[in-house]
Amino acid sequence: MITHQFEVLVVGAGGAGLMAGLYASRAAKTAIITKLYPTRSHTGTAQGGIGAALGSQEEDHPEWHTYDTVKGSDYLGDQDAIEFMCNEAVPAVYELEHMGLPFDRTPDGKISQRPFGGHTNNVTGKPVRRACHAADRTGHMILQTLYQQCIKNNVTFFDEFQAVDLLMVNGAAAGVVAIELATGEMHVFHAKAVIFATGGHGRIWEITSNAYAFTGDGPSMVMRRGLPLEDMEFFQFHPTGIYKLGILITEGVRGEGGVLINGKGERFMPKYAPHVKDLASRDVVSRAIYTEIREGRGVNGQNYVYLDARPESIMKYAAEDGRTNPDGTPYKITAEELLKKLPDIVDFNRVYLGIDPMTQMMPIQPTAHYTMGGIPTNKFGEVVIDDKNTVHPGLYAAGECACVSVHGANRLGTNSLLDLIVFGKHAGLRAAEYANQADFEKLPDDPTAEARAQFDGLRNGSGKENAFDISREMKKVMFDEVGIYRSGTVMESAIDKVLELKERFKHVRVSDTGKIFNTELLNGWELGNMLDVAELVAVCALNRTESRGGHTREDYPNRDDKNWLKHTLAWSKNGKIEIGYKPVIITKYQPKERVY
Ligand SMILES: Cc1cc2nc3c(=O)[nH]c(=O)nc-3n(C[C@H](O)[C@H](O)[C@H](O)COP(=O)(O)OP(=O)(O)OC[C@H]3O[C@@H](n4cnc5c(N)ncnc54)[C@H](O)[C@@H]3O)c2cc1C
Repeated sequence: MITHQFEVLVVGAGGAGLMAGLYASRAAKTAIITKLYPTRSHTGTAQGGIGAALGSQEEDHPEWHTYDTVKGSDYLGDQDAIEFMCNEAVPAVYELEHMGLPFDRTPDGKISQRPFGGHTNNVTGKPVRRACHAADRTGHMILQTLYQQCIKNNVTFFDEFQAVDLLMVNGAAAGVVAIELATGEMHVFHAKAVIFATGGHGRIWEITSNAYAFTGDGPSMVMRRGLPLEDMEFFQFHPTGIYKLGILITEGVRGEGGVLINGKGERFMPKYAPHVKDLASRDVVSRAIYTEIREGRGVNGQNYVYLDARPESIMKYAAEDGRTNPDGTPYKITAEELLKKLPDIVDFNRVYLGIDPMTQMMPIQPTAHYTMGGIPTNKFGEVVIDDKNTVHPGLYAAGECACVSVHGANRLGTNSLLDLIVFGKHAGLRAAEYANQADFEKLPDDPTAEARAQFDGLRNGSGKENAFDISREMKKVMFDEVGIYRSGTVMESAIDKVLELKERFKHVRVSDTGKIFNTELLNGWELGNMLDVAELVAVCALNRTESRGGHTREDYPNRDDKNWLKHTLAWSKNGKIEIGYKPVIITKYQPKERVY
């Protein structure tokens, strides 16, 4: 057992972890441990952009961004935190620019911005250009920029170290236990403050845009230590994943003017969202696609539709919609310009499907994309543990694994990258501030005991069961039964299935007994996390008897503010899920019916 000591320890090196590490390192001795090499984190796949009301190309205001985010959240987002994020967005984007992030530019040298779903001019109701982008590689550029800044600032990195347990002493976070992938050794990281920035858990669903590493490690470790998770029933299905593969086609394609077409060749979004059409919020568009498919209007009777981004189609539909350039001239785009703006999308289609989106339509279906729920925090990244938002000493969370909650029941595109930058920064600042006045807690004699017990279970199981089968069955039942459309009896059976899989998981035995890069063992451990998270998601989804944002109940089709304008908190206690609630913070905007 090797022990390290740092004042602030960050788990995860995506956008949130790097930003937290960068800020913490300015005031405290900081390390980042990460199971992936930092620049391989999922943030690197983010395509479309980061939202900020810069107003580079047309009028825009942080107030409009705030209102759109509240509305997009279906009024479940905490409005104080949303306002805070949208105000901080503008300086945050300029800070990234000054760090060297190569944003695309307008002809006069400003940061270029494009429209994105749910972001509007609050006066006209029309889409507004708010997403700042670096081609369709915005997240890649954020990761590279922040990683370089961290190196410059002497943040210590432990690459390919997987955290497997959170240490708590006297009710405060005291570090983590981690496995070094290359050697299989257990390391103890003793810290005064721990920041979780471990990303999401989309791999619990069959069709997903999420990277293999999105297995919910952070939330599961926190949950196993008796802390609650918030709003886990809310998960976002992105409307446009490549058919069968789930790989994301950014909403930026629709931002540039692409439209959705059903199997009869009809553009269908105006029927579901007459004002913003193809740029409605993701929950609305995903449900619309699903409805088209269910009513027999999928392509060739299959469960997919088309995304049409051929330049001549874009211009035809733009003319129909009266879309103009910022100078008022009719909207025009050439294949060459599209290729420059969306190079990766064009490549994905060519490589994975043999399709050229400049001349052919892309087959797409909704794909599990983003978790709105997670480890509850306040707007400073401090983990909070009850309905009174009591702060848990020494523990912080930021990014997709956290729930601030700024996304409420549904996240708007471009607001996640923003969330990482804003709340990563504040988590880093607060953690360093805390570490500067706290002492190291004394660790128990063997801090690795509980982590070892989990791995021993996987090494010594009866071997009757196979982890791959369990994983496949979990993903299928979650996608089919706790997916875009949900209902009570179906989810009850899904929960039974997940419980059965959890039982079977106890009989898994890992066959690789080696220590070096034992990915079978670590994937087995991750499957345990995914099963815990899947159960919690399904139980919370069954419990919430209304439809709101990304959570659609066929048996309770309406939003029910009287009974359900509240956050869910869920604890795992003695093998059972316990549910509580906490109020939504409403400042300026009283809940209204959503108009699309
Ligand atoms: C394909 C795709 C496109 C997207 N496009 C956009 C977009 O255009 N705009 C937008 O706003 N949002 C977008 N999103 C969402 C956004 O990119 C993610 O929500 C965000 O990047 C998550 O960042 P993060 O820092 O929280 O986690 P990640 O970037 O995933 O980083 C997680 C980190 O945690 C580490 N980690 C995890 N578990 C452990 C462990 N047990 N021990 C040690 N380390 C661990 C990993 O190594 C990794 O470094 C997109 C998401 C996807 C999947």
